[in-house]
Amino acid sequence: MAGEPQDDCLFCKIVAGRIPATVVRETDTTVAFRDINPQAPTHVLVIPKAHHADAATLAAEDPELAADVLRETRAVAEAEHLDSYRLVFNTGSGAGQTVFHAHAHVLGGRGLQWPPG
Ligand code: C5P
Repeated sequence: MAGEPQDDCLFCKIVAGRIPATVVRETDTTVAFRDINPQAPTHVLVIPKAHHADAATLAAEDPELAADVLRETRAVAEAEHLDSYRLVFNTGSGAGQTVFHAHAHVLGGRGLQWPPG
């Protein structure tokens, strides 16, 4: 069923506390933690606690939860004192998605180039 935890999902394991993560914020529905391989001085991932494979699936299956994730990206940016920052939702392996549990990358703390690679 949509949203149910998946045994083989890394981020479901982080939600369950079975894999360690440096959590910076948590709400009833989301967790934000520092990326293990940061690409900028601030690189935080915001995930829904419920399992949805990617951002597009999350938006279709649970739009309110998608809004919770977006609200939390703002809260992270404020907590990290970021004036400018980038939100990235890699969607599909061709776009670089490697973990198939929806997540927003919050990247900031340095100049960011456009277009991205
Ligand atoms: O968008 P993508 O699926 O590639 O992002 C997954 C992110 O999860 C990567 O940036 C990776 O460094 C991060 N990660 C993490 N902690 C883990 C495993 C992966 O922060 N234990």
